[in-house]
Amino acid sequence: MPELPEVETVRRGLEPAMVGARLVEVEQRRPDLRFPFPERFAERLRGETVTALGRRAKYLLADLSSGDVLVMHLGMSGRFLVGRDGGAAMPGAFHHRHGGESAHDHVVFRLSNGATVTYNDARRFGFMDLVRRRDIETCRHFAGMGIEPLGNALSGDAIARLFAGRRTPLKAALLDQRLIAGLGNIYVCEALFRAGLHPEAPAGSLATPTGRPRAAAGRLAAVIREVLTEAVEAGGSTLRDHARVDGTLGYFQHAFRVYDRAGEPSTNPGCTGRVARLVQAGRSTFYCARCQPR
Ligand SMILES: [Zn+2]
Repeated sequence: MPELPEVETVRRGLEPAMVGARLVEVEQRRPDLRFPFPERFAERLRGETVTALGRRAKYLLADLSSGDVLVMHLGMSGRFLVGRDGGAAMPGAFHHRHGGESAHDHVVFRLSNGATVTYNDARRFGFMDLVRRRDIETCRHFAGMGIEPLGNALSGDAIARLFAGRRTPLKAALLDQRLIAGLGNIYVCEALFRAGLHPEAPAGSLATPTGRPRAAAGRLAAVIREVLTEAVEAGGSTLRDHARVDGTLGYFQHAFRVYDRAGEPSTNPGCTGRVARLVQAGRSTFYCARCQPR
């Protein structure tokens, strides 16, 4: 499943192909993905110019000259392929794709700059929607959504305000999309490890009784941004590699310090502990009890 840094990597890969270009043709090959496409989907896109491509949590938002926003979510297996009409030498040529893959090409955007952007999704948990720009904050996708973890909104103050008084475990609070939006299991484990915080500590312990941030809150905000930024940078380098191969955007392997390392020595220099695994709300948490004492 793509995590936030992968979605941001996809955004950066799509931006040069889409922004400033007109959607000359939109081919919608099925009535639905995870949800039905909106009414007159292709018709509402055709002829419009993409004026910006943004991201909110794990959603991509393409602003159109019509005032609509094309909201796109990759679900479990969604990916975009960028093709250029310049032929095989150009990044994004499709000639490396193997038989059967194109059966999962569900939407094809042909742009005025010669780029072709294809949405492929074998499991069809992804979806696309059209929302008026003025309704974006209140629409069903974004209403009640928490703060953006890669933006300036995330700070020690914000974490203290959001977590104050909560007895829920720190890990669960970080995964709660109504508080902070777009953080997944992997990056939460990584951030808690770097911040030296136990995943079962009460979320409220990061704030004083009056809701002021303790030092750990500031530390946690900083490492969340750090792990995400590093992953986006790693994604940028794989993006260049991928573009040479087949134009597929969105999935990359990244070296994690604690995630999926149960039983291995702690990666913190000087620590003699080992990575342990515990299950919280049905999902694996990886942590080092020495680096992350209770
Ligand atoms: Zn350790």
